[in-house]
Amino acid sequence: MQVVILAGGLGTRLRAITGDTPKSLVEINGRALLDYQLEQVALAGLRNVLLLTGQGGNQIAEFCGDGTKWGLFICRVQEALPCGTAGAVLQAIDHLESRFLLLYGDVIFDIDIPRMEAFHRAHSADATLLVHPNDHPHDSDLIEMDHEHRVRKLYVSPHPPCVSLPNLVNAGAYIIERVALAGLKSTLPPRPDFCRHIFPLLLARGTRVMGYRSPEYIRDAGTPARLEKVGSDLFSGCVSSRSLRNITPAIFLDRDGTLIEGRGHIGRPEDVYLLPGTADAIARLNTSHYRTAVITNQPVIARGECDEAMLHRIHNRLESLLGAQGAYLDAIYACPHHPDAGYPGERIELKIACECRKPGIALIEQAQRELHLDLARSWFIGDSSADIMAAQRVGVRSILVQTGEAGRDGKWQCQPDIICRSIVEAVDHILNLDQSRSVLQTAEDVKQLAGTL
Ligand SMILES: [Zn+2]
Repeated sequence: MQVVILAGGLGTRLRAITGDTPKSLVEINGRALLDYQLEQVALAGLRNVLLLTGQGGNQIAEFCGDGTKWGLFICRVQEALPCGTAGAVLQAIDHLESRFLLLYGDVIFDIDIPRMEAFHRAHSADATLLVHPNDHPHDSDLIEMDHEHRVRKLYVSPHPPCVSLPNLVNAGAYIIERVALAGLKSTLPPRPDFCRHIFPLLLARGTRVMGYRSPEYIRDAGTPARLEKVGSDLFSGCVSSRSLRNITPAIFLDRDGTLIEGRGHIGRPEDVYLLPGTADAIARLNTSHYRTAVITNQPVIARGECDEAMLHRIHNRLESLLGAQGAYLDAIYACPHHPDAGYPGERIELKIACECRKPGIALIEQAQRELHLDLARSWFIGDSSADIMAAQRVGVRSILVQTGEAGRDGKWQCQPDIICRSIVEAVDHILNLDQSRSVLQTAEDVKQLAGTL
């Protein structure tokens, strides 16, 4: 696969800091932005890079040379006049390989590119967009996908008020089959953009556009504030720690009675109410080294009280409520099954004894594979004995919260590691424990160091 980088950005919003330096050569912690990008490309084992340059193209050419420094082969196409992100790609179409990864020139990322390409192949996609939840979905371009990961709609910001949109943001990294771009040029406005023009056109044509949901770090550095943010994230190690190449602990979360009020079975988005303090607690996890994954039993589907599309809308609502308060979930896994058949309106194909209904562990194992999780360092927070039992079966420490069922269901005989009043207290407990461990570790290090002096 070839890598195409849109390096024609003028960096107008950064001019106060960078003067006439092209955006790709802006320095972050003493290194050019493009240097970080090319390092990632090389790390992924890719070799062929095409730079699409505009103003400042010669400076970029001078910086990169032929790419030997990174073990890459770098070519460059210079645009005569600014022609928009998609315009630059279409202009260079004769230089594109049959499949390419397109990256914006102002993003800092650490993504497992081979994993994304494997997804693209497995779904026979014509185009795959990397999407992720973020802490400001209200002013981001959002993607609506169906439960088979197919992109159905794009919402360019600003969004209509009072609509529950998914917290799935277009991150600006696409794998595209060149053939999908054939015949587009004549139908586009001047200076076309991928999100506003190309992808809506592809969707209208019925092209297979997929969304690849990733918890990894990818953020643009296009304004002074964002530049500062990615600089500090690179420095703190939070860019690389979120990469799917690295194994990471997770906080598994039950949904009803733990995150949201468990008023019977929730069958409509309007019935979703966050429990007090939930968004704050999740936001704290989002800035820690834990990934977050919801694991929920939703027998409402098997009983025919709610279908998959409605469940999707319920989860959009949950993500919207969290997103409005700067919090997000890395993934949501739901079991639609139920073991006992014989009720009116039920869906007989879902009335099975499955492996994914908690205390079954199939969804936890799926999360472990998809999010590359270290279960031994993970926690499960839930309100029922099925949550605690599932956690114990996979060797994950468990916290029973005294909201929702508060463990009174008594279906499974098991003891949680800890009991907390709510998710807020549970998250406090986990993060404080880590904090005191690291203080202890530092004290140990100091003692050892003192011993060697
Ligand atoms: Zn199931």
